[in-house]
Amino acid sequence: MIGDFDTTIKGFNELIKKIKYYNEALTLLFWDLRTGAPKKCVGGRSEVIGMLSAEIFGLSTSEEMGEYLDYFEKEENNAGLDAVLKATVKECRKEYDKCKKIPPEMYKEYVILTSESESVWEEAKKKDDFQLFRPYLERIVKYNLEFVELWGYKDNKYDTLLDFYEPGMTVEKLDRIFAQLKERIVPLVAKISRSENAPDSTIFTKYFDPRQQEAFGLYILEKMGYDFEAGRLDESEHPFTTEIGPGDVRITTHYYPNLFSSALFSSIHEGGHALYEQNIDPELRGTPLHTGTSMGVHESQSRFWENMIGRSYTFWKCHYEELRKIFPEQFEGVSLEAFYRAINKVEPSLIRVEADEVTYNLHVMVRYEIEKALINQEIQVADLPEIWNAKMQAYLGVVPPNNQKGVLQDVHWSGGAFGYFPSYTLGNIYAAQIENAIRKEFPDLDEMICRGELLRIKAWLGDKIHRHGKLLQPAEIMKSVTGEEINPQYLIDYLENKYKEIYAL
Ligand code: ZN
Repeated sequence: MIGDFDTTIKGFNELIKKIKYYNEALTLLFWDLRTGAPKKCVGGRSEVIGMLSAEIFGLSTSEEMGEYLDYFEKEENNAGLDAVLKATVKECRKEYDKCKKIPPEMYKEYVILTSESESVWEEAKKKDDFQLFRPYLERIVKYNLEFVELWGYKDNKYDTLLDFYEPGMTVEKLDRIFAQLKERIVPLVAKISRSENAPDSTIFTKYFDPRQQEAFGLYILEKMGYDFEAGRLDESEHPFTTEIGPGDVRITTHYYPNLFSSALFSSIHEGGHALYEQNIDPELRGTPLHTGTSMGVHESQSRFWENMIGRSYTFWKCHYEELRKIFPEQFEGVSLEAFYRAINKVEPSLIRVEADEVTYNLHVMVRYEIEKALINQEIQVADLPEIWNAKMQAYLGVVPPNNQKGVLQDVHWSGGAFGYFPSYTLGNIYAAQIENAIRKEFPDLDEMICRGELLRIKAWLGDKIHRHGKLLQPAEIMKSVTGEEINPQYLIDYLENKYKEIYAL
């Protein structure tokens, strides 16, 4: 409680540590549920999870927390805090206000609605029945509109939602970014679709033993510098990374025996996320700053490793022989060039999660435009299937044959996660900017990658980005790493140059 300055700091630190520890327990329970907990424990375990979550919510919005925040926000007290505590107070205030501004009854109704709606969405997707999901989505949108009123907004209602995932990002900036991408990427995709030089990716559909896939994944992760003494690789339905606590950042992948490229690139992707979490300054432990600064910057780390490194020719020049040692029959007669082209095949497709690096941002653009219009009440939920299909036609030149492969494909909206989708594209844009900055630092980057010297890249990222955790805002980090604000031009140039060559455009 509030006492003299030092006692109050001590009390505040104890409180945030307690929240952090409860979170660690909760995260471990989630990881367990998703990686192989026995089926019969799920009901009981969910109750434990529910109780722990309520406990964390209670502590984060407690009267005690409110008093600490008021105290440390007073100018004379704030001046005495170090940078870590100042940022911690800001972070806790954000969370406190986010929860406190919504009446508890309303919040409870919303939690029940979203948990119901996730299972309704699953069923609706399975049955290809949008009408089943529609009333739920309508209510979720309505709640979000009310929340935005309670949270407040400046220029655009959607800004408030965006800010939860990418602090500082606005519709004004995103509109400009997507307009630039649209102008160059839509024609690029159209050109690629017409090209007669499409790579052959059927080499990945032979049989690849999952255990051997795992062995190769472990080999690559080790080269990237993933610390296996501070993490582990497991299998789950959908790949993910989770920071359970300091010294424990776990990743998962999913092995498809007849689709080799999937687990490989998802392991590299999750490995990129994990390097971020594994290399945050230990000084930030026990605070809410001991995590990535935003969803977009987090995604930049995974995309950088997955695409800029993992899908580069130089990377495979170094590692393709090792791969052929593990799968000699599968890659018999497949040259390095053919392999490189195959992992970079571009195909306008219906499903976002299966999309290549060129078309991916167009999938995100479809979702961004729809979310923005929904939250600004310019379109109705009832019209989504039609709007979705029209945008797919316009940007990718393909139209889903049903809603299962269209508007119903993603889980995000059923959980109310509006504002999340743009993070994926922001990640791609940041990744290209970061790659450019690394090239300036290491003019011999390609030779370095050829020699397998990935640890130097990992160390550079650790120093410039990872160690800061959430102490710096996304825009501050990007400015200090690249010398400029977010700029999609680097991504556009990267994609145009790379694919002009592969497709002989
Ligand atoms: Zn990711």
